[in-house]
Amino acid sequence: MLLTITTTRSPATDLGWLLHKHPEKVQSFALAFGTAHVFYPEATDERCTAALVLDVDPVGLARSRRNAGNELLAQYVNDRPYVASSFLSVAIAQVLGSALSGKCHGKEELAETPLPLTARLAAVPCRRGGEPFLRRLFEPLGYSVTATRHPLDAQFPEWGESPYFTVELAATVRLADLLSHLYVLVPVLDDEKHYWVNTDEVEKLLRFGEGWLATHPEKEQITARYLKRQGKLVRSALAHLGFDDDTDPDEAAAAQDLAEERLEAKVSLHERRLATVLSVLQSTGAKRVLDLGCGEGKLLRLLAADPHFTDVVGVDVSARGLEIARQRLDRLRLPDPLKDRVKLLHGALTYRDARLEGFDAAAVVEVIEHLDPPRLGAFERALFGCARPGVVVLTTPNREYNVRFENLPAGKFRHADHRFEWTRAEFATWCNGVCAAFGYAVRIDPLGDTDAEVGAPSQMAVFTRQ
Ligand code: SAH
Repeated sequence: MLLTITTTRSPATDLGWLLHKHPEKVQSFALAFGTAHVFYPEATDERCTAALVLDVDPVGLARSRRNAGNELLAQYVNDRPYVASSFLSVAIAQVLGSALSGKCHGKEELAETPLPLTARLAAVPCRRGGEPFLRRLFEPLGYSVTATRHPLDAQFPEWGESPYFTVELAATVRLADLLSHLYVLVPVLDDEKHYWVNTDEVEKLLRFGEGWLATHPEKEQITARYLKRQGKLVRSALAHLGFDDDTDPDEAAAAQDLAEERLEAKVSLHERRLATVLSVLQSTGAKRVLDLGCGEGKLLRLLAADPHFTDVVGVDVSARGLEIARQRLDRLRLPDPLKDRVKLLHGALTYRDARLEGFDAAAVVEVIEHLDPPRLGAFERALFGCARPGVVVLTTPNREYNVRFENLPAGKFRHADHRFEWTRAEFATWCNGVCAAFGYAVRIDPLGDTDAEVGAPSQMAVFTRQ
């Protein structure tokens, strides 16, 4: 994890005074979760940059955690060492504590002076809310924000974007203000605080939020995330910040997260696909819906958060996928009555299953291409012949579009587990065959930006029972 802070106010090396760290030295500090290093990659009169590198030790972290849970690998292999998170806030408080509290022995005036400062965070996770939320956090505080989003894997553009951004924040502010903003807002963006929060945390939020949080347009969301959505703590903090009304902050946060997720859905193909499928399902007025081959539950989360759906059932053959889906749904922190509408079933789509009968609609998103072609007939019979939902929304890649993916070798499929990928004509033929055999009508739409020659990257069929 790397944070740099640059100033161009001459003599720029005064930054060393303010941070209480000499520009000519490299200094290291032991922290509970690793080591922090401070050094200056540049230090001239005109321009001075201080770097804070956090070397988080994931092995030490995993060992010190009593509650091992069952995500063993994830304890060792995760993004925590590399991204700006609540670990950074702890390091700022411990390593740059006097600068954070606005002290500068012998140069008090300097600490009180707004300076031209640029903070650069090498990797910031913005899982919920993406760049719009990042901007809504920092722009009201006077920062000009530059955000560069990174793809998940440059080799596989169809995987879409990652939630990680390189972020630059520039403003003329007091150093203590910049550090306080980072201290509070970095964990808010990351939304995965590494420690349990208690009443001390309310005190910290109010202390470091002094002078700016009470008037910040996102103060409810900031407070809810900073305090890990613990209702009592959030209410107490908001009361101090002069906000008192009857809305439950948990619900407000869940609703906003969802709204942001919808906003973000514009960015990656898969998110766009899910948003399209969701809106088709919503437009049919379906109440009881299936998500067949739900995987890790991305669509389920969207369905679960819309109270118009009275029953939401996810089905997958992968127990691991279902486990992740369950965790993701839990993280939505839906109120119990909404939560109880969502069920997960372990099952294969190529077998008749009485539990899947009587539903208004079913989504089958990017699943059929994972079935062996000789098993397609069994899938058709189980879904269109036996379960027979009123509407089936089914998506699959358009193979013709593959030539537009620069990093996909000719003739290869997009995913190692795909058993086939269809052209638009092949998909239409299959859809029409299903309609004729089982009494459905179909409409086929392109999904994603359409290329004049090869069509859109993905295709969607909406089947309606006749
Ligand atoms: N619909 C999800 C996941 C797509 S990946 C999404 O859009 O994000 C394909 C999913 O289909 C995987 O989770 C896989 O486990 C599941 N799957 C593949 N064959 C299946 C079968 N025969 N029965 C049930 N699920 C199956």
